[in-house]
Amino acid sequence: MSTRAIYPGSFDPVTLGHLDIIHRSANIVDELYVAVLNNQQKNPLFSVEERVEMLKETTATLSNVIVTSFQGLLVDFAKRVDARLIIRGIRAITDFEYELQMAQTNRIMEHGLDTMFLTSSLEYSYLSSSTVKEVAMLGGDISHFVVPAVARKTREKFCERS
Ligand code: ADP
Repeated sequence: MSTRAIYPGSFDPVTLGHLDIIHRSANIVDELYVAVLNNQQKNPLFSVEERVEMLKETTATLSNVIVTSFQGLLVDFAKRVDARLIIRGIRAITDFEYELQMAQTNRIMEHGLDTMFLTSSLEYSYLSSSTVKEVAMLGGDISHFVVPAVARKTREKFCERS
């Protein structure tokens, strides 16, 4: 039986930390849906389409990765694509409480939908999309945090805004 998993998130924008989780989970499962959550409440820097596009570009070499977006409940999306596994990354203990709550909630709503946590690689354990945006907004160099194409698009966004 093949394993189909979903790696959901905001990816606003995708960082080297996310890419590390994507590469590692794509090696574990047969098929990986990287799913951008379309959540208006979060006031994202990039539109869903832009985030999907950046993820597609940065994962183009991974043949078992499918990039898409979804709205509403993750459990409903999982049912739609017939996935039984959610992947999430854990950077620090501060991530854990929220992640545990989400994993338990999803499992109660959809029995049999499990969440697998991958601990972040040490070199990315400090890294978040929010940090990237903050540094970029203040004109700092974000090339340590994201791939060059994403760095360029992030810089352009802040230029457009100012
Ligand atoms: P959300 O807004 O849902 O937290 P993110 O796009 O920030 O979504 O993150 C998606 C997933 O990737 C989450 O499980 C998050 O913990 C994980 N993640 C984010 N940054 C890193 C990183 N640097 N290393 C490992 N996992 C990460």
